[in-house]
Amino acid sequence: MKLDSYFYELFEGLPRQGPGDSQSTKKALAMIQPLPNNVRILDIGCGSGTQTIELARHINGTITALDSHQPFLDELDRRISREGLADKIKTVNGSMFSLDFAKESFDVIWSEGAIFIIGFEAGLEAFKPFLKPGGYLAVTDLCWIKDSPPAEIADFFGIEYPPISSTAECLGGIGRAGYETVGNFTLPESSWRDEYYRPVEEEIGRMRKRYPGNARVAELCEEMEREKDMYWKYSDYYGYVFFVMKKAG
Ligand code: SAH
Repeated sequence: MKLDSYFYELFEGLPRQGPGDSQSTKKALAMIQPLPNNVRILDIGCGSGTQTIELARHINGTITALDSHQPFLDELDRRISREGLADKIKTVNGSMFSLDFAKESFDVIWSEGAIFIIGFEAGLEAFKPFLKPGGYLAVTDLCWIKDSPPAEIADFFGIEYPPISSTAECLGGIGRAGYETVGNFTLPESSWRDEYYRPVEEEIGRMRKRYPGNARVAELCEEMEREKDMYWKYSDYYGYVFFVMKKAG
């Protein structure tokens, strides 16, 4: 998919930039036991920060919310002031490929729907130096959740996301990268259907009205619809999986 200004315009209109839901964020957070008092969290690829706000409501501590797209951070800043969370969340424009923080400075690193950008195992390796010994990493990534996916969906991801692997393969990667798995679960279908694709459909409708006759917008909307149709057809086979892991102490 081409990441041009129309692509960003569509995603800037969404409450979240990928599948997810607040219940799952809370469920993953509850796997971190005990959650340190004054916990320091880094949220990588925070987007407009729905999960950042949810985390902030349930912790005593601070969150550094990092993304490389400033308009998402601007929206998160507006949400932070609306919610009165300025003392808990600080936004930072930066890249997950060149994290610029003190080593071993975070108790928890969070990343929903963003580790695919660097790659699952590469991300586990790249984020690890910034975690304190015994610190936790919580990420979601796209996985095959059932064996033998039909050719149509296997071919689709062969083009759109070739590195997709099974939940079991990801669990293997966690061990190889020197973490211990604390827990994992597949996000409910509602986190795709209601929390993500419904707003996507609404935004597509608005984009089509805003840019009548624009071939690139038409193409983008069709690509998004095709992706959605794939989910409607093959949601038994793939999903987002939350992985919560602990760095060796
Ligand atoms: N966590 C959010 C956003 C997920 S979409 C949610 O679940 O809704 C992926 C996010 O990664 C986008 O906000 C995108 O701007 C960001 N991103 C893309 N490349 C990045 C990079 N190199 N470093 C940090 N963030 C990046």
